[in-house]
Formats: sequence, structure tokens, C-alpha cells
Amino acid sequence: MKVAIASGKGGTGKTTVATNLAKVAAAEGCTAAYLDCDVEEPNGRLFLKPTVDKQRSIDKLLPAVDLGRCTFCGRCSQACRYGAIACVGKQVLVFAELCHSCGGCTLACPVDAIREVPKSIGELLLGMAGPIRFVEGRLNVGEAMSPPAIRAVKSSTHHAPRDDLRHTECDQYNEADLTIFDCPPGTSCPVIESVRGSDLVLLVTEPTPFGLNDLQLAVEMVRTLKLPLAVVLNRCDIGDDRVRRYCAGQRIPILAEIPDDRAVAEAYCRGQLASDAAPSFAGRIRSLLGRILKGAA
Ligand code: SF4
Ligand code: SF4
Repeated sequence: MKVAIASGKGGTGKTTVATNLAKVAAAEGCTAAYLDCDVEEPNGRLFLKPTVDKQRSIDKLLPAVDLGRCTFCGRCSQACRYGAIACVGKQVLVFAELCHSCGGCTLACPVDAIREVPKSIGELLLGMAGPIRFVEGRLNVGEAMSPPAIRAVKSSTHHAPRDDLRHTECDQYNEADLTIFDCPPGTSCPVIESVRGSDLVLLVTEPTPFGLNDLQLAVEMVRTLKLPLAVVLNRCDIGDDRVRRYCAGQRIPILAEIPDDRAVAEAYCRGQLASDAAPSFAGRIRSLLGRILKGAA
């Protein structure tokens, strides 16, 4: 089962839920994989402390123009929807930050003057956190578009040659009982790329006016994608009951309510998994796992 852990805004406890869910699932005998799709700010590794045994570049393809062949007809710039290539006099300019690597200009060129060349936009890290298969994507500082890096994280075993991973690890990833996508916050393109293909989107929120507002935006996004969704209410003993009433009205199941707990906050500050430090928290995550695996959403 593939579960995307997302939230309309940052700081709701998304990574806390994602990392502890992976840990508890593994402790309960499930095979678990944790994929950090928050490529602009990956931090799951601070808590899972994986051993990284493979590291490689994430590339995107950019057009490179052979000016010796080019007739400066301008068809490539007419074909590009993103304004990423421009034919100006006897020059063809490529704006790498705008390019979506769609290959349209290559197809449009009548004289085959364009070839696609790889450009590194980040790094992919593969390893194990105890029994948990761990994958992290890291976007280079200054790179504008994270979806290609997120795609690389989610399809890492497809991109990797078979012998790039130990056989058992590869099997463990592909056949994991639970694969967790730890998504970036918000509702924009990186989040859409991260939740795509999941069996359940778990939205982590708080019972505050900000939490409700951002939850509503996230619900709208997930419903547009026609994916099953459920809610985890973190710090459930603060704020008011508007999130609960909204979920009831929208028929969105709340799979877990997690009270504010100093032991959880202290574990977080130490870079420790809260399920190791706070037994009551671990119990709630175990119960959440049971409801997910039973298909409660
Ligand atoms: S479509 Fe090809 S030939 Fe025409 S301007 Fe672009 S690169 Fe040059
Ligand atoms: S690959 Fe696509 S986005 Fe990039 S320059 Fe060519 S047409 Fe534009």
C-alpha cells in the first residue's frame, strides 16, 4: 500500500507521522519503505538515521542546439509552451530554469539540430534505516523545479539498474506492505507530483483556523486528483472543533487524534523518533497503522 503523508501547510507534524509510521510498521513486522519527496527540505533522515549506500545524480534533459545545422527557422520557440527556448537572429537561446524537459522542441525541429543533454538538478540517496528501505531526493540550491526530482525519488528502483541495489532491498521496496511518501507542504505542483499514484493521502492538520483553511485547500486538491483521503489531527487538544465538524460534514475519516505531548516535542528536538520516546504516541501510531492497513479510509 502506498500512503502519501501531506498537509496544506508546513509545521503540522507531517514528517513526525511519516517517519514514525514507517518505524512502527517495521516493528510490527511489515516491510516498509520511506521515500522523502520533500526534495527542497528533506529531513526524514534526521529521525530515521539511515545508512546511505548509494548516491547518484538526478538529471533533467535540456535541449542543446547545433548552430552548424540550425536554419534559425524559429519552430522550436513556437513549439515551446514555457518560453524556454528562443530563436533570436542567428542565436537560439535556452533558458534552463524554464525548461520542463518535454522534448517538444526536439520534435519540432525540421533539421534535427536539437539533441537532449542531461543536467544535474539534485541527488538521490538510497539506503536502509534498520529494516526500512530509505530513499531521499535533494534538489540543488537554486533549482526552480522540484517535480523531476520527486519523480526520480518515486521511481528510483525503475531508474536503478537491477544490480544497483542489493536484491533483497529491491524486492523489499517493490513489495513493501507499506510505502510512505513524505510529501512537501502546500497544494502546488510538487505536492501533486508527490501524492500521485498513492492509494491513500493522509492529511496531517491541527484544530486551528489556519489548520482548517489549509486542510480545505488540500482536500480540494486531493479530490481533484480523485484519490482516497483521510485526516490525522495532530495536537488535537488545542484550538477548537471546527476541523472535526468540517471532516464530519465532508465525510472525511479522522484516522488518528494525537494530543500535544511534551515528550514528543523533546524527542523531535533531539532528532529522535517520538515512538521510541513516548509510549502513548507509539500506541496511537500503531492504531493509525492498523486502520490504514484495514482500509478504514
Ligand atoms: S527548430 Fe531547429 S532549425 Fe529551427 S531554429 Fe530551432 S533549432 Fe534551429
Ligand atoms: S524541452 Fe520542452 S520545455 Fe524545454 S525548451 Fe524544449 S519545448 Fe521548451
